[in-house]
Amino acid sequence: MTASREATVGTMAVRRALPQRGRRTIGAWCFVDHFGPLRPAGAPPADIGPHPHCGLHTVTWLVAGEMRHRDSLGSDQTVRPGQLNLMTAGNGVAHAEEEVRHQSGPLHGVQLWVAQPAATRGGPAAFEHHPSPPRADLPGATATVLLGALGDARSAARTDTPLVGAELSFHGGRASVPLTGGFEHGVVVLGGEVHLGDVALVPGRLAYLAPGREELDLRGTPGTRALLIGGEPFPEALLMWWNFVARTREEMEAARAAWASRDARFGGVATSLGRIEAPGVPWRAA
Ligand code: MN
Repeated sequence: MTASREATVGTMAVRRALPQRGRRTIGAWCFVDHFGPLRPAGAPPADIGPHPHCGLHTVTWLVAGEMRHRDSLGSDQTVRPGQLNLMTAGNGVAHAEEEVRHQSGPLHGVQLWVAQPAATRGGPAAFEHHPSPPRADLPGATATVLLGALGDARSAARTDTPLVGAELSFHGGRASVPLTGGFEHGVVVLGGEVHLGDVALVPGRLAYLAPGREELDLRGTPGTRALLIGGEPFPEALLMWWNFVARTREEMEAARAAWASRDARFGGVATSLGRIEAPGVPWRAA
């Protein structure tokens, strides 16, 4: 089990469960940020201006609050708790995320990235909104299936590699979660405390489960929520930098240059939020 790193996205403090040294991916899942629910009084809204992505899907899942997503495809979609926003970057997309401020509660949720395989990572961008992902009733928990399948529920959301992503809501007592034997898995607790054997999982910890398990036994008090992510171990070596997932530094530099020059590769987003410029690459540019 590993501890999350503290990181900052815009003005928001987040717990970054992936990537970490020694654990870069779980299946194709390559990035897990857990934000909220606590925010200092007077903190500015959690808005993130237009920024680019390539080579990945973004998965947005909220526990509380609302976010408005706008992207260079023309999508304009507010996402609420229990709904899934899934954006596919492919060769390039830009988006902005804005906290909807009429909500009284603080924003609480996760944003995850899924690496795209060679077959699709240079392809077109896309956006999907799923207002009511399917649920599976498990012993001791209800699973809301965001991606892939769990129990008798299968999500209609796009996946480019064999994956699962589900929110587990515990009823109390022992919960039994069916797993795919060929997948590796991770568990991120969103609120409360979940026990895996005699190990207590709390927000900010990532539990990793190697392939070969057909079932996961967890215990969580009623109301506790956790995210289960998993997939076939990703066979391609990834390079992740800033908002890009690629394979080489040259690809990174090309993506950075395209964003800096406002190239049509990423396009623009209709919002008054300020555009986010890329930092310099941390290696000597070619
Ligand atoms: Mn983004």
